[in-house]
Amino acid sequence: MSIFSPTSFQCPNCGTENEFDHFASINADRRPDLRDDIISGDFMRVKCSNCAKDFRPEPELNYLDFGNGNGLWLLARPISAVAHWSDEEIAAQTLFDNAYGAGAPKAAQEIGKELTARVTFGWAAIREKIVIAQEELDDAALEKVKITILRNKPGNPVEPGVELRLLAVRSTVFHMGWIRATTNEALEVFEMQRALYEQIAVDDAWEKIGKELSAGCFVDMQRLFIVPEPIGPIAL
Ligand SMILES: [Zn+2]
Repeated sequence: MSIFSPTSFQCPNCGTENEFDHFASINADRRPDLRDDIISGDFMRVKCSNCAKDFRPEPELNYLDFGNGNGLWLLARPISAVAHWSDEEIAAQTLFDNAYGAGAPKAAQEIGKELTARVTFGWAAIREKIVIAQEELDDAALEKVKITILRNKPGNPVEPGVELRLLAVRSTVFHMGWIRATTNEALEVFEMQRALYEQIAVDDAWEKIGKELSAGCFVDMQRLFIVPEPIGPIAL
């Protein structure tokens, strides 16, 4: 079921209060249009009734995409929450376990076996996980590729709040982008051969880093670089 409630949000440009539908939960099997909107960047985008400027509240939702072999369960959190990703991933895992794991009814557990649980921070990250599911890629392997790009590609626009994301896959080419997470502005977009991903995915030399990357449901190279601040148990 997709759950939304009419919410008021203040325009960051002129301060006008705008009403819009805030989604707390999305079932992409029943509402594939919402999945498409996340990919296109139109999801929960609000045009201010006063100044006509676009804005987009940060994600805070649960996303389920079971059909078409996508098998993805996501807890999408605001970008600022990445600062305490360790507590966040524990909370997300607990939420998943209660809904589809050991704490759930048998029928739900059967569904849970087909699901990959992830927590993401910001719009660029949730969008990327959906692309990965649709393209049937291994997200930990993709993060290894990003580390390779970070180490070897000259001129990366590395700065706080700028993230490297897979944007799309076209045949043998991955379209990658350095994205400013708070605005989703693309600072640099480039192409990468799929062969690099295929090669790294099976390379034993990456095994140790692969284990670190997938030690919890926050599968993102940021977990190797951001020392998480503790905030204690989170009730979601
Ligand atoms: Zn406005």
